[in-house]
Amino acid sequence: MKILLLGPPGAGRSTQAQRLSEKLNYLPISTGDMIRAQMIAGTELGRRIESYYGRGELVPDEAILELVLPNLEPSGRWVLDGFPRTEAQARALDAALERRGIGLSRAILLEAPDEDVISRVVGRRYSLTTGRVYHVEQDPPPDFKARQDEGPFMQREDDTEDAIRRQLEIYHREASILTGYYEGKGILATVDARKTIPEVTESILEALQTPRKS
Ligand code: AMP
Repeated sequence: MKILLLGPPGAGRSTQAQRLSEKLNYLPISTGDMIRAQMIAGTELGRRIESYYGRGELVPDEAILELVLPNLEPSGRWVLDGFPRTEAQARALDAALERRGIGLSRAILLEAPDEDVISRVVGRRYSLTTGRVYHVEQDPPPDFKARQDEGPFMQREDDTEDAIRRQLEIYHREASILTGYYEGKGILATVDARKTIPEVTESILEALQTPRKS
């Protein structure tokens, strides 16, 4: 199984990719995480892309393709989170998979209204110790004394309201083209991402069981 998770920032792509990895042993491949790792390591690529990232803009396609394509093991089970985000990326992905003799099993679209994802993203915090993601209201970071996770709890540089609004603008510009692309291939399934985390996982698992349209 080779799966894509599509959807706006804050729809829960990374959380669901993580859960698919725990439940079904999928390798989660997140282009956002790859970009953050490059920036933290201060690589030449990281320096080239950081100004796009901080503003909520898309990083140029060539840089993303350079990061992601070498990681797509033909025999593996993987779930792509946050890629493709443009039609050019989708076509480059198809061409790379075709060269390796493999195809995509499903593209899952996590759908949620803008106002919901804005409040999710602006309240998002992550632990520098464990990497776990929290929300200041819905799932607050634990009390320091509880010691389950000592933090410190940080906000991602692009989790500001300005950056998220810019990301949503870009998302809406590209999303219908991408969903149309995968619908045309008969592999698109849409899931309501407003539900609870376990309910969304259930809906994804159901979608994976449903035969693809031909
Ligand atoms: P994410 O962690 O998926 O929300 O991505 C955070 C940011 O990383 C985005 O706003 C973009 O700047 C960049 N990014 C992640 N994936 C891609 C992609 N496939 N194409 C272009 N930029 C990306």
